[in-house]
Amino acid sequence: MKLSVIIPIYNEESNIDELHRRLLSVLEPMALSGGFELIFINDGSRDQSLPLLLNLAARDTRVRYIDLSRNFGHQIAVTAGLDRATGDAVVIIDADLQDPPELIPQLLAKMREGYEVVYAKRRSRQGDSAAKKLTARLFYRLLASITHISIPVDTGDFRIISRKVVEGLRLMPEQNKFIRGQISWIGYRQTFIEYDRAERAGGETGYTYRKMIRLALDGITAFSDVPLKAATISGFAVSGIAFFVGLYTLYSRFITHDYQPGWASLMVSILFLGGVQLISVGIIGEYIARLSANVRQRPLYLISDTNLPPYAGPGK
Ligand code: UDP
Ligand code: MG
Repeated sequence: MKLSVIIPIYNEESNIDELHRRLLSVLEPMALSGGFELIFINDGSRDQSLPLLLNLAARDTRVRYIDLSRNFGHQIAVTAGLDRATGDAVVIIDADLQDPPELIPQLLAKMREGYEVVYAKRRSRQGDSAAKKLTARLFYRLLASITHISIPVDTGDFRIISRKVVEGLRLMPEQNKFIRGQISWIGYRQTFIEYDRAERAGGETGYTYRKMIRLALDGITAFSDVPLKAATISGFAVSGIAFFVGLYTLYSRFITHDYQPGWASLMVSILFLGGVQLISVGIIGEYIARLSANVRQRPLYLISDTNLPPYAGPGK
């Protein structure tokens, strides 16, 4: 049994050494028969993260690093790690110690009960701003209500997955990754354990609101057609209303001859229709943008340096 731990790194200079220390203090006593590997993916950090990783790799042969050519985002960084992980089971963990490494033995123990995926569900989360907590809460519930697969609420990417699941993920070539959704889609037996999420140990969040919105839209568009259907349905609803208003207009024009100049009603209907149309076009645009990203078939990421052996599999 070999364990791979995947750690995406974006400006985490203040956490890397502490994380490494804590991972070792958890993983070494586990005495895994096949040992373990730590795969750090440097996602275009602009601080001293990379030199720190090189330093770790020089001191500890179990440390692997992948230095991406620029910042590709958290999900792609994790994907790069998954592409190259060789373990029988893989743990995905954040570098900022918000996901406690001490939970790994529990995750593995649960997996050994016969699960392919054990994710860590946040019972509470400290540190994050009220706005972040609220938007995350709303997002997970919205997503749950409009998708067919059950994506667990209040769960990040902190989890352990089996080799089977890793192979499943490698078969999913989409450009816009929403890994926790993809893992739900894959199926098999999945379960969770609960934990209290700590504050970020050092540094600042790499998830700007922009990145969060993109992740949310990637999740929704990858796993739900409901927004498109909503556009269609609102189109029908508005047309239905317009039809009756049209009848009424003709009736008052020709039958009762009791018609008003009607500036207000014109303004209201033009603005309303314009809004519905723009929203619908925007929704369609979100899907088309992702379609075209997939049609272009660019590699998901480029590697500038790594101490992993050469490889030409998914993602390349
Ligand atoms: N991260 C990354 N690329 C990015 C943003 C974040 O690889 O563009 C990493 C980051 O270093 C951390 C993990 O993704 O290991 C989660 O990011 P963060 O803690 O900033 O997100 P939050 O916990 O605030 O949602
Ligand atoms: Mg964090």
